[in-house]
Amino acid sequence: MPKFIDAIAGFGVTFKAMFKKPITEQYPEEPGPTAQRYHGRHQLNRYEDGLEKCIGCELCAWACPADAIFVEGASNTEAERFSPGERYGRVYQINYLRCIGCGLCLEACPTRALTMTNDYEMADDNRSDLIYGKDKLLAPLTPDMTAPPHAMLEGSTDEDYYRGNVGAFRLTIQPKESLL
Ligand code: SF4
Ligand code: SF4
Repeated sequence: MPKFIDAIAGFGVTFKAMFKKPITEQYPEEPGPTAQRYHGRHQLNRYEDGLEKCIGCELCAWACPADAIFVEGASNTEAERFSPGERYGRVYQINYLRCIGCGLCLEACPTRALTMTNDYEMADDNRSDLIYGKDKLLAPLTPDMTAPPHAMLEGSTDEDYYRGNVGAFRLTIQPKESLL
């Protein structure tokens, strides 16, 4: 008898589903939105003037439980500067064959250089194209940014950048620049 009731209950679920509106995802023609905090492709961020936030410290690589990140830092020089301060990430790679999207690398990053986007379209047909380098990970330049290498804003220090004062700083020095 209980088995008979189970069968009725099972058909009940099927019967109810017959009258529900079907949900058909039109992927890939119409990729759907993700949850706001979805962990998609990483992004290496820039400061307001275009300098890179990554200082090549490798903390993200050490924090990664899947050993998916490779970083090779190098020294900035006054003639060739990619980030404020002494060091920048000369080579930065994330292996998406290994990444499990946990976000621990973001927590480890001291400059908030590394964040994650909602981009999930990273499928490919070969292994090497799933190792993303700086060409794919760096944030795009906005119109008011200048592509590195270039000097820090006139009169500013690396601390101004790290403390997030560059925006205000930039406004204060803009009149000077416009006189040039
Ligand atoms: S999200 Fe997790 S697995 Fe992926 S690179 Fe970052 S720390 Fe490693
Ligand atoms: S992304 Fe952040 S933690 Fe990783 S090397 Fe660059 S500054 Fe360091």
